[in-house]
Amino acid sequence: MIRLAIAKGRISSEAETLLAQAGLEFPSFDDTRKLIISDKSGLYEVLLVKPADTAVYVETGVADCGIVGRDVIEETDPDVFRLFSMPFAQCKMCVAGKEGFEYKAAKKIVAASKYVRCAERHFKQKQIPCNVIMLNGSVEIAPLLDMSDVIVDIVQTGKTLKENGLVVLEEVFDIAPVFITNKAALKTKQKELYELIDILEKQAGISQ
Ligand code: AMP
Repeated sequence: MIRLAIAKGRISSEAETLLAQAGLEFPSFDDTRKLIISDKSGLYEVLLVKPADTAVYVETGVADCGIVGRDVIEETDPDVFRLFSMPFAQCKMCVAGKEGFEYKAAKKIVAASKYVRCAERHFKQKQIPCNVIMLNGSVEIAPLLDMSDVIVDIVQTGKTLKENGLVVLEEVFDIAPVFITNKAALKTKQKELYELIDILEKQAGISQ
């Protein structure tokens, strides 16, 4: 049996379609309150977990593999193998703020973000001194109320920024769901895991 941890929400909705197209029949992820779901064949089990926890289940070996956004991988840097990206739920990590905001040389800026490490890394690379305030969500509020100069957050359609009078100032990295696995699973469940990887890659149009 292969156990797959999937980030519940945007990723799980689309992963469900991909898994179904690959012939893995699960009850609807959106309609159930169950957190552990078996497929019809009994060969696969899905754990529906918080996005930020997905890699933890794989890293600790509780799950053999997982599907998680690159945002989580970049923020938490888990000890897992990142095998391939999937062509859905794509978005970007961006720096956003009020239109016209410009960094002034050597002047410290304040950023609000749920992705503190990504934000710190980005401004360090740009050699911009920065204080990052950790917020768990609705970060768009911070620059509106002058709590921060900018935010570092995920932008998909740009609607949330627009409705809050903010604009993308810089793109930091592209985000897509990533298929991850661990050393133990690659060793002990190699055959079953490669079968799954093969069908998912084919379904995702990554290999023919
Ligand atoms: P949008 O208005 O479509 O640009 O979406 C931006 C809002 O949705 C922000 O508050 C983001 O934090 C959140 N968001 C968008 N895409 C994702 C994603 N793939 N994972 C987590 N949060 C997301």
